[in-house]
Amino acid sequence: MSNNGNRIELPASIVIRDLAQKIEKSPIDLIKKLMTNGVMATINQAVDFDTAAIVVAEYGLEAVLEVVEAQKPEESGEVPLWRQMIAGEDGARLKSRPPVVTILGHVDHGKTSLLDAIRQTEVAAGEAGGITQHIGAYQVERKGRLITFLDTPGHAAFTQMRARGAQGADIVVLVVAADDGVMPQTREAIAHAKAARVPIMVALNKIDKPNANQDRVKQQLAELELVPDDWGGSTMVVPVSAKQLQGIDDLLEGILLVADSNEIKANPEGKVIGTVIEAEVDKSKGVLATLLVQNGTLQAGDIVVAGIAHGKLRAITDFKGKPIKKAGPSTPVSVLGLSDVPSAGDLFQVVESDREARAIVGERVEAARTQAQSKKKVSLEDLFANVQAGDARELNLILKADVQGSLDPIISELNKLGEGEIGLHILHAETGNIGNNDVMLASASRAIIVGFNVQADVDARRMAEKEGVDIRLYEIIYRLTEDIEKALKGMLEPEIVEKVIGRATVLQVFSASKFGKVAGCKVTDGELRRGARVRLYHATDLVYEGDLSSLRHEKEDVKEMRQGFECGVGFKNFSNIQVGDQLICYVVEKGEQAG
Ligand code: GDP
Repeated sequence: MSNNGNRIELPASIVIRDLAQKIEKSPIDLIKKLMTNGVMATINQAVDFDTAAIVVAEYGLEAVLEVVEAQKPEESGEVPLWRQMIAGEDGARLKSRPPVVTILGHVDHGKTSLLDAIRQTEVAAGEAGGITQHIGAYQVERKGRLITFLDTPGHAAFTQMRARGAQGADIVVLVVAADDGVMPQTREAIAHAKAARVPIMVALNKIDKPNANQDRVKQQLAELELVPDDWGGSTMVVPVSAKQLQGIDDLLEGILLVADSNEIKANPEGKVIGTVIEAEVDKSKGVLATLLVQNGTLQAGDIVVAGIAHGKLRAITDFKGKPIKKAGPSTPVSVLGLSDVPSAGDLFQVVESDREARAIVGERVEAARTQAQSKKKVSLEDLFANVQAGDARELNLILKADVQGSLDPIISELNKLGEGEIGLHILHAETGNIGNNDVMLASASRAIIVGFNVQADVDARRMAEKEGVDIRLYEIIYRLTEDIEKALKGMLEPEIVEKVIGRATVLQVFSASKFGKVAGCKVTDGELRRGARVRLYHATDLVYEGDLSSLRHEKEDVKEMRQGFECGVGFKNFSNIQVGDQLICYVVEKGEQAG
């Protein structure tokens, strides 16, 4: 808290509970004061700065707007991918390149309409014939500067790219309908953009609608840490109507401003690299791929490796279908000549020779094979190991809970934990079951999914298995926070796993003085081991579970008994053994080390 006398710094938006805490007053009292001022708010609701200022004035405090630090995409050390791509380039040769923009947002908020509206302004600006083909990306010109748009609305494409280690976009334009406000997919989109460290600006769409409420949306955005610039924050919010072509110019200008403050650069003379936007087989032409050049200049005749596809580019056309000879950074092009269909999100590069291309592809195929065999989960146990090795700096989490009422306390508990040496980054927190989108986000961000009183959908489970994403479900809050705390401190006990080492069938039951009854068994599989654990099943009923304390072979005590042999097994305090019972012998081992 930064109180200076009776001055208090407040953000552009603050939740009542936090406000009460900040001014050290009872929230109930605060809510009453708000009510007398005609504002109805619950303890979990946020009020804007002006409202908060009026209320704190009643306590004799003067509110001043907190200075919000500029958005820092690299705040936790992760560098956007395109910066890594140009890391080897000579700084003096780097030149500004057009920003690459992707449009995300909730369904029906107008992503497609906005992409169309922007395309139309291009036509209006005098493009003969307009743009008839869709190659997954296009460019528009504004004040002599180009902007590249990825024309694949919806964050599935964006996330898929990220899951493959690619990051086509430099800027995310988040479309929010002014009549509908922030919705679940809006939040998801924000989580994706934040996880990818891509700056976000907002297109506040459908302002032509009679029930549009821009202030309400701004309030909601502020609550999600996207404080609008006109509220003193750093998120540009541009009101638009895709339908009536209003505000499109402002939006484009806004994009250029965001681009300028992010120094989006590349070396046009450098190594040619970029990302596959989409690809398909054209019956008459062969493999047709859309590539986004991100560094260097791509030329017809270049030999390209894209994922596990390769080939000499026969023809390059721009997004309007016009043949071109070369394409510099941020240019989307359609190319012919690849051997196979690469996947969206695969990186491509230009190589010297066909031989080199084949060698790289060969290595990748091999690497993919070994990776598939040893695909490791990002699990709390791994984090534990990484903490010990000094590698981990941050734990990414996706949190799902049954109701908002459980989400809030969990988040505040977790935030406290994240103040230690290892940061905790909650990428996305929402109510509802764990679904595919959560798994995609987790996979792309190397995050763990934590569920509280929720289930994981069957599809999501399957996908998590495939992608190696750890899903942890809890029903008690402190168990959840305890596990995370242990992981962050590098103290997590590896998960205990059972390993079955043998099975046996009971052929006879003997009486023996020491143990009451002894099972005469035949080992059908593996081995029985003294000191290990056993379970005895009568048909499918588990009738006994405990230590295997007595193991004898022809009246001799033995340590173990292998498959095919017969032996006597005694169970402590249990004598209801029956012929035909099945015995399972197992050991407990610790998590990943189990092998
Ligand atoms: P998407 O699912 O986000 O791609 O949304 P669409 O672009 O398909 O738009 C959904 C619906 O909203 C369509 O019926 C559009 O005509 C309508 N729509 C989009 N933008 C506007 C707008 O600015 N004003 C109004 N009134 N309707 C819009």
